[in-house]
Amino acid sequence: MADEFLKNSYSKAAVVFKKFCNHILYSENKSMEVLVADAAVSTAIGGMTFPVCLGLLQRGIFRPLRMTSNIRILSSLCGSMSIVVAGSTSSLAFLTSIFLLKEIKRTPWKAKAEKNLHRTVPVAISSGEIPIYGVSSLVVFKLLAGRFKSVLPSSLIHPGAFARRSLPAKGKNYASSGVKTKLALMGRLYGCHSCGKRWRTLFVGDHIPPNMIVKKGQEQRFYPQCRSCSFQQGAALSSSSRRLLIKTHGTSLRLYHLWFPLPIPLAMLRNYAKDQNALSGSTTMSQDQDNAQKPDKLLSSIVNRILIFFELKSKGDDQDNE
Ligand SMILES: [Zn+2]
Repeated sequence: MADEFLKNSYSKAAVVFKKFCNHILYSENKSMEVLVADAAVSTAIGGMTFPVCLGLLQRGIFRPLRMTSNIRILSSLCGSMSIVVAGSTSSLAFLTSIFLLKEIKRTPWKAKAEKNLHRTVPVAISSGEIPIYGVSSLVVFKLLAGRFKSVLPSSLIHPGAFARRSLPAKGKNYASSGVKTKLALMGRLYGCHSCGKRWRTLFVGDHIPPNMIVKKGQEQRFYPQCRSCSFQQGAALSSSSRRLLIKTHGTSLRLYHLWFPLPIPLAMLRNYAKDQNALSGSTTMSQDQDNAQKPDKLLSSIVNRILIFFELKSKGDDQDNE
């Protein structure tokens, strides 16, 4: 009975997964060739959007809600959701930029860039696939050794978002010179455990839990901390300010903040699948050629609004498209 249920569930899941893969792979009508120069500019825009979005989420949502990187499970969950949101937003910015550059008439800088980079790359251009890019951003983030919880702000009384290694502390005493040297090396390597700052600062040994709140018999450890965070921690504990105890770090960038233009590899994958199908003579591919000519509704409306805002297009043109 249980075996049959499992078998049925497995076969249903396999059918759904195959349909999902087919949908992603064989929607090649929604791809277009884009100039390398346009793709490069759009990638830069998407690349900037990703960390900016993560920084705004820290300041706008997590700090007011006092959600910090030390909260178990919840911090990883919120961190992964932030990456999905930031990845989706960056992909939307990328695709909008692709369409916008296509719309904008030839400008001298664009003509120059096109002269040097006249080759094209395929780009998948459906806004319906943006959630897929958002989820795929999680994989890229993990491949670049990111930790989901580290996109949340740090609590100054717990190991921070950049805490990787620590050293045992012997009670409330300051760190010895040997420990200080080790902490300085750890600071250069991983950054201040609270804000991630690596350069142009001196590191101090931060007691966690801090001396002012440690309970009798509780074990303390040293984490490398920059002077600025150390002062903020002292001020927050003296004034009992809960707001000061939270440190955001939107400008401390790491390799895992790199955003990858996923619509390009997806379009390449589709072209490859299309070629393979053509070779094998298979007919599983979507044949809906009408879709190829239909502009993406969401992207078109965003692009039109931007063009109207900058007075590059009159309102009449927009209505024609709808
Ligand atoms: Zn710091």
